[in-house]
Amino acid sequence: MDNERVVYPWQRPPRRGFSSSAPGGYGRISTEGYVQVRWPNPKRQTLEHRLVWEFHNGPIPEGWHIHHKNGNRSDNRIENLEAINGRLHHRLKHSSYIEHPDGSFTKRCTACNKELALSEFYQYKSGVRKASCLACFRAYALKRYHIRTKMGVCRRGKN
Ligand SMILES: [Zn+2]
Ligand SMILES: [Zn+2]
Repeated sequence: MDNERVVYPWQRPPRRGFSSSAPGGYGRISTEGYVQVRWPNPKRQTLEHRLVWEFHNGPIPEGWHIHHKNGNRSDNRIENLEAINGRLHHRLKHSSYIEHPDGSFTKRCTACNKELALSEFYQYKSGVRKASCLACFRAYALKRYHIRTKMGVCRRGKN
């Protein structure tokens, strides 16, 4: 059995007088919820989950992501981490995505709950797609536009 907890070289509590918000009392939690440590370069913050995975498995292949299986970004136990091709990461693991037997993907809109082609979702430069489909987003934007216009009319009416 290999249940003994590993103490990694970067897991030192911060210098006296400093407290840490991260579990274990070392490092810090980034705005995205990841644990960062100043290791191996004390001048640079490094993502701990990447260090943990590399400690056990060697260098992360270029373009691959380390995914937190249970969804908790600060749970960096090795058994909670898995390497995955960056291109497939969000499709497979953060899914409103649905994988089909032919290897293609569709996605469920969080607003109308319809299963639609990926082209029906706005895609950011990062590769991440919007949670709601284009039609829902347009409807939402139009509603916002109407509210704004109405307010504009009201204001003009008062003056
Ligand atoms: Zn992930
Ligand atoms: Zn929709």
